[in-house]
Amino acid sequence: MLLEKKIAVITGGSRGIGRAIALAMAKEGADIAVIYAGSAEKAAEVCAQAEGYGVKAIAYQCDVADFAATEAVVNRIYGDFGRIDILVNNAGITRDGLVMQMREADFDNVIAVNLKGAFNMIRHTARQFAKQRSGRIINVSSVSGLMGNSGQANYSASKAGLIGLTKTIAKELASRGITCNAIAPGFIETDMTEAMPESAKKTLAEIIPMGKTGKPEDIAALAVFLASEYAGYITGEVIKVDGGLYI
Ligand code: NAP
Repeated sequence: MLLEKKIAVITGGSRGIGRAIALAMAKEGADIAVIYAGSAEKAAEVCAQAEGYGVKAIAYQCDVADFAATEAVVNRIYGDFGRIDILVNNAGITRDGLVMQMREADFDNVIAVNLKGAFNMIRHTARQFAKQRSGRIINVSSVSGLMGNSGQANYSASKAGLIGLTKTIAKELASRGITCNAIAPGFIETDMTEAMPESAKKTLAEIIPMGKTGKPEDIAALAVFLASEYAGYITGEVIKVDGGLYI
């Protein structure tokens, strides 16, 4: 198994891509801490399924945008698991709208969850990673952050910001044996994309060179690899998993 005896924290692990990452890591032998915002039942289901793989799994409610709450939850996780080896900053939201109509709160909230949320989690784990001279940080960005996307000024900015954050953290922490990489998914079938208008989904699917949308498991496979020993010399990278959507 690729992640035996590792402890992984996955934000937004209750649904979609985060759920798939949490379960894939558990299947590879990692104990998992699943952070969710409101879906207590779904997070509990993920943990129950993970326990079926023989690992320890605990769900934690926490708004990643809240600096003090993330500090408290990280402390609880250290208390429950003793250490953290892998941090996956996956929690994310969309509040789409054309820029001329976008509400200030929709811009602020998306940046707060998607970008500051990742900073908060890194801020509260980095010192311990540095002390143990190891750690894997994986940030879930998006091709929207690389190519821009009409109707997503807030989201694209947050995801582009995550790429800057990833590269900086990679440089700052490389000498301590810590890697930090970003995954940029394309169009993946989850609740987030289910909420898109049918016409937008159809147009997007048509322009993907591989001719199909992705599954959460497509992202989880890369997350497991980046967390594994195989990826020990990879840092500061942004890897697209998008069926060729952004070539
Ligand atoms: P999703 O199905 O909507 O799930 C979002 C997850 O984030 C849920 O577990 C949710 O928890 C959690 N979350 C939301 N706000 C939170 C907060 N303030 N604090 C803590 N947790 C919070 O989304 P998804 O499609 O799996 O997306 C996962 C990540 O991939 C996001 O960062 C997204 O931007 C990125 N991404 C997705 C796609 C795609 O096509 N789906 C493409 C590119 C990038 P609750 O269940 O408790 O609400």
